[in-house]
Amino acid sequence: MNLPSPIEQLHSDLFSQHNVEVYVKRDDLIDPVISGNKWRKLKFNIEKFKAGRYDKLLTFGGAYSNHISATARAGKELGVKTIGIVRGDELKADANDTLRQASADGMELIFTKREEYALRDEKYYHEELRRRHGNIWIVPEGGSNYYGVLGCQEILKEVDIPFTHVITACGTGTTATGLLLSSSSEVIGVSALKGGDFLTENIKNHLMTLSLPESHISDVMGRFVLQTGYHFGGYAKYNKELLEFIETFEDQYKIPLDQVYTGKMMYALLDLIEQNYFPENSKIIALHTGGLQGKKGLKK
Ligand SMILES: *Cc1c(COP(=O)(O)O)cnc(C)c1O
Repeated sequence: MNLPSPIEQLHSDLFSQHNVEVYVKRDDLIDPVISGNKWRKLKFNIEKFKAGRYDKLLTFGGAYSNHISATARAGKELGVKTIGIVRGDELKADANDTLRQASADGMELIFTKREEYALRDEKYYHEELRRRHGNIWIVPEGGSNYYGVLGCQEILKEVDIPFTHVITACGTGTTATGLLLSSSSEVIGVSALKGGDFLTENIKNHLMTLSLPESHISDVMGRFVLQTGYHFGGYAKYNKELLEFIETFEDQYKIPLDQVYTGKMMYALLDLIEQNYFPENSKIIALHTGGLQGKKGLKK
């Protein structure tokens, strides 16, 4: 694992005109498959797994899930047996590149009816899964638990330049929670989904599991700014404008972006700069959360 991940400054006329500095924290370079925030969220879950002498690590995801992909590869590299509960009982292990890789990495894939998948956060369902699979450590979809938040608190600790804002793509808000808890700056979350208002609630729930006093919770939430206008139609949806933006960005900066998360985040960042969202002299960290394994599907 390539850690600490590199950080690099981007240069453009847009940034100098608006008198802001932009740095990209390249968590996409942590590993080609176990990339970005998925490694951050797995790290302490795997430590927990090992310390607790569990037999298998079980988790959940959709057919193209970066989290399924990363968990399978991390399991292979770190000697952890993994089970992936995958949404959709019509699927097979050779349905796409993500599932093929996960299966080849040794993950046991269980294709599950949508009604059953909907129970993935229910305690009684976890009991049922324990009856079926034995001594398992259960990681929620997207790695969205306390240990996931803990891992995401390491990202900004690796940054030794001063900054005023951090911007990240959001799916569950777990990464944003870790960023908020490990800095005192504004954290901008760009929702990759339509109707991303639940993200604020998710972050608050994470904070509540930490038993923070109400005043700390309102301080932290006061630094979170949710951007819901950059989902491009919804989760995993995209249009020509987004794809062209990604292509232009990649040509200019030689940094690859995916169309599900980081493309939308970077689009939002440049748009916000153009709209004078950031005060002069802002120093902005854009977190590259990885996710490039999902790009393979797009190229085809
Ligand atoms: C999963 C993922 C996210 C979403 O992270 P959350 O912690 O769930 O908000 C963002 N970017 C990429 C590339 C991802 O794979």
